[in-house]
Amino acid sequence: MKRVSIFGATGSVGQSTLDLIGRGDYDVVALTGGHNVALLAADAIRLRADVAVTAYDDQLFTLREALAGTGIEAAAGTAALEEAADRPADWIMSAIVGVAGLAPGLRALRHGTTVALANKESLVCAGPLLMAEATRHGTTILPVDSEHSAVFQALAGEDIAAVEKVVITASGGGLRDMPLDKLAEATPDQAGTHPNWDMGQRITIDSASMFNKAMELIETKEFFGLNRSQIETIIHPQSLIHALVQFVDGAMMAHLGAPDMRHAIGYALNWPDRAALPVARLNLADIARLDFHAPDAARYPALALADFVMARGGLAGAAFNAAKEHALDLFIDRRIRFTDMAPLVERALDRLDGQGSLEAAMLTLDMVQDTDRLTRAIVQELAQTLRAA
Ligand code: NDP
Repeated sequence: MKRVSIFGATGSVGQSTLDLIGRGDYDVVALTGGHNVALLAADAIRLRADVAVTAYDDQLFTLREALAGTGIEAAAGTAALEEAADRPADWIMSAIVGVAGLAPGLRALRHGTTVALANKESLVCAGPLLMAEATRHGTTILPVDSEHSAVFQALAGEDIAAVEKVVITASGGGLRDMPLDKLAEATPDQAGTHPNWDMGQRITIDSASMFNKAMELIETKEFFGLNRSQIETIIHPQSLIHALVQFVDGAMMAHLGAPDMRHAIGYALNWPDRAALPVARLNLADIARLDFHAPDAARYPALALADFVMARGGLAGAAFNAAKEHALDLFIDRRIRFTDMAPLVERALDRLDGQGSLEAAMLTLDMVQDTDRLTRAIVQELAQTLRAA
């Protein structure tokens, strides 16, 4: 029986993963969550996990109470999350949101565990480190982001050298039809509503700003080892084509599917095989048309920042992610406007670049975490000057 652990089990991707796990025959080793301890405990009991871990020490008492008498271990804190990745498993889902997902994923790779990677922040912050660890330990990272799963599937049996370019699609997000001069007034609720996908709040707002797509462009470069000139994004409002791969002979392979994360998760769970999945099938006659248009650089300034990060390398990805995460926190707390996020990230990157803080020949987890802290402090300081202006 396949032994599996789910990191970020209480989140949107985590719950979709558990939905599939619950339909099959799996030995569930560890489930991890954050504040939603009641759900974590209920799922651990339902799926007979060995251990349930909350990221937060102050939640341990509640978790222990909820698991009392079940024989399931309870643990809390960052170290416990990493220890959960030390437990022997065949496959883990890395679906913690944010840079917090990096350390447990790295630990699992170092044990030779197959890592299904939804946590795109890991690749953005430390792509070269992650890919090198996977190679060193002879294990596999399977992409779970729908666009990257689509590219991965289109590349099955193909030689990466035969790829001319990869096009990942974008819905344009919840504010795609809002007039440009109104974007500054957009609220977190408006930005947090997605036209096609049902996802966590943070990634949904990142879709509206296209910071999510910026992350995915970087993720594509890191995961597939492509040049940035080979990677494009295009707005496809229906979100039915997730990505296209164009080969040197001019052929284009497109991956289509209903906007349901259980497709990409199921592909990674069953890989290298395919198995039946409980996802909707597309009826092309009903769909009738598919639209595409180039993204507007003025509406989506995050895309130009991704270009800078891909060109700069080193610690630029870690800084970009931290600045983006912190700016997003400030927007969700209504301390800055929607349109302040990209300029804040840009100014933080400029400052770090100017002082030589993005240089790194070889990435380490410590370097990434130090850059993360430094960048957040800079964004906090820059946001204050923004408010004072
Ligand atoms: P959610 O916010 O829905 O869930 C995040 C999960 O991480 C929850 O289990 C949460 O616990 C846990 N968590 C939050 N903070 C921490 C922390 N500091 N330490 C440990 N655990 C923590 O996110 P999503 O499921 O939407 O996204 C997860 C990842 O997958 C992200 O990297 C996202 O970019 C990526 N992704 C998501 C997609 C989607 O459809 N949602 C699509 C493609 C990629 P709790 O809720 O209990 O506090």
